[in-house]
Amino acid sequence: MKTTYINNMPIQQWLPAKNRPLLISGPCSAESREQVIKTATTLEQTGLVSAFRAGVWKPRTSAQSFEGHGEQALLWLREAKEKTSMPLAVEVAHPKHVELCLEHKIDILWIGARSVANPFSIQEISEALKGVDIPVMIKNPVNPDLNLWIGALERLSMAGINKLAAIHRGFNTWEINLYRNTPLWEIPVELKRLFPKIPLICDPSHICGNRKMIEKVAQHALDLDMDGLMIESHINPNKALSDKKQQITPHKLQNIISNLQIKYPGNFEKKTAETITELREQIDVLDKKLLEILAERMNVVKNIGYLKKNNKITILQIERWDKIIRNRKEKGLKLGLDKDFLKKMLNLVHNESINVQKRIMNDVKKKNTLKNKNK
Ligand code: PEP
Ligand code: MN
Repeated sequence: MKTTYINNMPIQQWLPAKNRPLLISGPCSAESREQVIKTATTLEQTGLVSAFRAGVWKPRTSAQSFEGHGEQALLWLREAKEKTSMPLAVEVAHPKHVELCLEHKIDILWIGARSVANPFSIQEISEALKGVDIPVMIKNPVNPDLNLWIGALERLSMAGINKLAAIHRGFNTWEINLYRNTPLWEIPVELKRLFPKIPLICDPSHICGNRKMIEKVAQHALDLDMDGLMIESHINPNKALSDKKQQITPHKLQNIISNLQIKYPGNFEKKTAETITELREQIDVLDKKLLEILAERMNVVKNIGYLKKNNKITILQIERWDKIIRNRKEKGLKLGLDKDFLKKMLNLVHNESINVQKRIMNDVKKKNTLKNKNK
């Protein structure tokens, strides 16, 4: 995919952090005037929160669920801002939402994971925002598709928005695991590599779907040098009308934040910096060897491929593959490698080996068809 250059303003210029890490917090949904005001004032007292979030239009799976109070809730948010001076962040999924948020002086907009999965919605929102100077935070799409996420950032950027941030909230995956939305950390890390100027905020609440894992996920986000956190907080989480299981009290939030270890990407002492450089040099040499060995392995795979082709032997022989996987797993485990990593790595190498041999078969087939045509 051809990517556009995205011009973006540093987040410190449009959302200065009150504390480290930069924290956006508030309830999943604005449920009542009392809930909004109480949650906002208590969060403000912690001194940790740089922006107050609340859902006003909620994207719910079932129409029977609470879908938000709409415009009325924007009035409660305005009151919360008057009382706390915290900037407000609200989710928009439609041009009408954009219009109402602008009318009610909402400071920051965010686009939810379901909308980001739909380029039509993103296009409509982008058009509604043309000529408007407002920060927009874009969650990752529900499905693990980095290009869709990038596409949404590009559409907003092309509409003239230059205060963009990306929010990592995890992905829907078929595998059942401990998370509500699997983090797939490699996807936000790749986004950061491609677009280092786009601040990356982690949303542990929607990744975890529960309260007890939030701290661990938040710490991991900081270890990956993410730029901030968005964590849902509710004055009475057990009574929440949406995402009840993952919301925490402002007090619990304060607790979690104080337990986090803040790290700095380039903050090495001279001695540490020297050791890191030496170790990295070792990694460079090892990676070179690793690549050379992989290339050598694929060459052997090719030779086997020609033999299989000439002797009409199937590419896959399950007993051989079974033997390889058992033997390499055992060896790898003895060497201290992780079981899941070994499994993934062996499967990746094996799939590529099959592809290499497949290409040999197809190539020869193509040549044969050409020969027959020319006869
Ligand atoms: C939310 O932030 O409350 C929300 C609906 O999030 P997501 O779009 O990540 O599901
Ligand atoms: Mn939520």
